Amino acid sequence: MTLNQLQEEIVKLKNQNDVTILAHYYQSIEIQEIADYLGDSLGLSRIARQKANTEYIIFAGVNFMAETASILNQDKHILLPNPESCCPMAAFLTPEKIKKYKQKYPRIPAVTYVNSTAEVKAESDVCCTSSNSVKIVKKIKDEFNSNSVLFGPDANLADYTEQISKIKIVKMPENGHCIVHSQVTLDDMKKIKKKYPKALVLVHPECVRKVREIADFIGSTAQMLDRVRDSSSEDNEFIIGTEVGLLERMAQDFPDKEFYLAHEKMICYNMKKHDLNLIKRALENLDDKSLEVKVPSEIAKKALIPIEKMLEYS
Ligand code: SF4
Repeated sequence: MTLNQLQEEIVKLKNQNDVTILAHYYQSIEIQEIADYLGDSLGLSRIARQKANTEYIIFAGVNFMAETASILNQDKHILLPNPESCCPMAAFLTPEKIKKYKQKYPRIPAVTYVNSTAEVKAESDVCCTSSNSVKIVKKIKDEFNSNSVLFGPDANLADYTEQISKIKIVKMPENGHCIVHSQVTLDDMKKIKKKYPKALVLVHPECVRKVREIADFIGSTAQMLDRVRDSSSEDNEFIIGTEVGLLERMAQDFPDKEFYLAHEKMICYNMKKHDLNLIKRALENLDDKSLEVKVPSEIAKKALIPIEKMLEYS
């Protein structure tokens, strides 16, 4: 079967069943092409709640995203085409760890990045994404009338949020990170900037501070896309400091501009554990419980509160 035939077969199966396919920007371009909706974590959370009015949602993303969709849609079946697609960053903050931080700092609100498990979200006061962390931290600090916030699991996003918001952050834990973004060094950036001196540098806040400091723009995946969309006709070259899937999206959406990956290793192997054959398998086995991500209702009820607060605040 050719790639086109496989994509057509998937669309046919999808249309014959009550299914919505959601895909994160870090998915391969073949998957992005057959998705009903594309987005970053916040965008997909909103879509899962407001637009995915089908009995089944196939989520081409990592497991915490499917969990978030389950929390927001307890009446729907959320399927992960490859159940092993997980986010190593989320493993940095366990429910036991966040409980310990809350015991140590009882009057400080706990903010968790959406890249966390449902159990950890259930212990949080509010969630945030890389696009809204500054706004969320300011609002929750005011609500709790505190001088600082607890923030986890990404220490680089915590650092960025503290720099911009000027609000003291206690990291939960000190060393949480994304293996894809944090591996890029200042030297890597200097090399690629030298190679493409006219290119604007766009990086994700999960990158380390030294990398962020030489960037022209820091933002979430959706914000980077907007930055390119809003660029003037003179800005034709961009160095992209995030996962390669976003660069592929940009190359398709803006064919008259050039994009260079900040580092060739910016590939999230967990996001790439899905492929078209696995999506087809999920469509053919919609009631296969081994593919379903279902957050238990008592955890979902608790985790919904900080997610809803985030959606209300952002
Ligand atoms: S890119 Fe990083 S934060 Fe995103 S899913 Fe992969 S490991 Fe997790």
